[in-house]
Amino acid sequence: TNDNQTTFDIIIVGSGAGAMASSIVASDHGLSVLVVEKSGKFGGTSALSGGGIWIPNNDHFKAKGGQDSYQQAFDYLKASTENRVSDSRLHAYLTHAPEMIRYLERKSRVRYAVAEKYPDYYPHLEGSLAGGRTLDPEIFDTTCMGDEVENQLKASASTLLMGKIAWTARDAHKAMARERGWRLLLLKLIMKYKLDFGQRRKTRRDRRAALGSSLVASLRQSMTDRNIPLWLDTDFTDIVFSQDRVCGIEVVRDGEKQTLNAKLAVIFASGGFEQNQKLRDKYLPSPSNVKWSATPPGNNTGAALEAGIRAGANTDIMDWCWWSPTVKVPKEDKARGLFAERAFPGAIVVDGLGKRFVNEAAPYLEFGDAMYRNNAATDGKSLPAWVIFDANFRFNYAMGPFMPAQIQPDSRLPKGWLNTLYWKADSLDELAKQIKIDADGLSHTVERINRFATTGVDEDFGRGSNVFDRYYGDTNVKPNPCLAPIVKGPFYAMRIEAGDIGTKGGLLTNEHAQVMNTDNMPIAGLYAIGNCSASVMGQSYPGAGATLGPAMTFGYIAANHIAKDI
Ligand code: FAD
Repeated sequence: TNDNQTTFDIIIVGSGAGAMASSIVASDHGLSVLVVEKSGKFGGTSALSGGGIWIPNNDHFKAKGGQDSYQQAFDYLKASTENRVSDSRLHAYLTHAPEMIRYLERKSRVRYAVAEKYPDYYPHLEGSLAGGRTLDPEIFDTTCMGDEVENQLKASASTLLMGKIAWTARDAHKAMARERGWRLLLLKLIMKYKLDFGQRRKTRRDRRAALGSSLVASLRQSMTDRNIPLWLDTDFTDIVFSQDRVCGIEVVRDGEKQTLNAKLAVIFASGGFEQNQKLRDKYLPSPSNVKWSATPPGNNTGAALEAGIRAGANTDIMDWCWWSPTVKVPKEDKARGLFAERAFPGAIVVDGLGKRFVNEAAPYLEFGDAMYRNNAATDGKSLPAWVIFDANFRFNYAMGPFMPAQIQPDSRLPKGWLNTLYWKADSLDELAKQIKIDADGLSHTVERINRFATTGVDEDFGRGSNVFDRYYGDTNVKPNPCLAPIVKGPFYAMRIEAGDIGTKGGLLTNEHAQVMNTDNMPIAGLYAIGNCSASVMGQSYPGAGATLGPAMTFGYIAANHIAKDI
């Protein structure tokens, strides 16, 4: 390919994990593929993510003696999605997801390991497993990428050990749950980083990529192996039709308008609309703010969604995000998700009345949804909400951008954080006054949770009563690894928002990832995958990796479907 070529078999819009996986499969079918990315960096939210993929019935788990089956996964997914998604799409996902990852591991540089202990998010539903369906990327050495590694969107500091060292989700979990040997593990990881003298002389960037960064780097290098072009700074603006068939796209490339021709198909893989305040206001529950999102600013503004709608496409699940409570750290360009620390013992979340309203350890999607529900029930007193903890918690555990005080005491926190990101007081009453929430409510709530910590039973929300909650609990804390009393001053509050890690609704697709029009017919030559399509998970989040797993699987399905037509 040369840089001036304007005709390809397939053009893929966006450069997240789904887009890249799709380009590899299409190229292996002998098709010419172009990937266009509007920003100056490839990888999108996928590159900043955990990179986990939820693949029921996968080979890795089975190789380790794990038990899973198509039927069991189908029962679970059916129960999770509550009839919001057609059986044919659920079937397509469960059939092709294990196949997709088998293909990539055989043919490309992508490598995964099973997270045997990571439970499905709804342990109470039939067909759920206590671990084995989530796959976690192996470490990827980026040396082979040469300078191309600089074009990849950098992982957020929050996903790296001490803000700079690559670690797998399995290692991070071991450290957070303080499992046996966690200190030695940390020491090893730190030494490995420090002893990489060649790299340390040049940069603080770890040459070893983990999580979403590993996934995207390994996919990008697999594209390079196949000479698949990826154009940065190329902004999709509209679809081009010839008769009733999509035959290309319009882009603005390096500031100039251009038409690119797609002989067979266009695949939208350009993410959701979470970075577009107007579209948020139109579709999402209110209030909602682009600044609460943990996704890269400016990337996913819904261009494909709007173009699809103009072309007659149907949409679904438009009022849902992949919700996650987030914290806004001063000077950081995007919010940080609170995924794990809500389950650590000794931190509770309260609303403006000083009351708990949800099991803090609940999956992030349910937690975000609960913030909105409680906001409606309390006449607007749940956005923001507040996470409250004491000096014991602060000493032992991480919270948002805080490392445990035993590693990072308050004196080593950046100056601008006090009274913007967190508040601190000698008494709970004083803390409540500072953050303007009901002091009596808070005191009553803390009394209750302190009693629950002793008995081990959260009578209000059942926190710590299931295998998912306990995944991030502290195994050393008894009787309930997710409950500890809040007793020792100073007391802390951190402000949390109803954030997201992407929107969930979008163009409605069929089991082949074809975009459907409002008459329920496929729009010829148009496919959509990832967050610009309505999620195959409906309004649910059945397990870790339930956004990237489908993005990559439907990318694989789309490429195979297009190739079958020729
Ligand atoms: P993206 O990966 O965001 O890619 C879309 C790309 O399209 C972007 O680069 C964007 O710039 C580009 N684009 C947008 N508009 C245009 C246009 N007009 N023209 C050209 N290009 C365009 N999910 C999981 O399944 N597992 C996890 O472990 C996980 N961890 C996460 C951790 C964090 C901290 C966050 C924030 C998210 C996490 N997620 C996880 C969610 C997941 O990252 C996203 O849902 C997923 O990456 C979305 O993939 P996508 O391909 O749809 O979009």
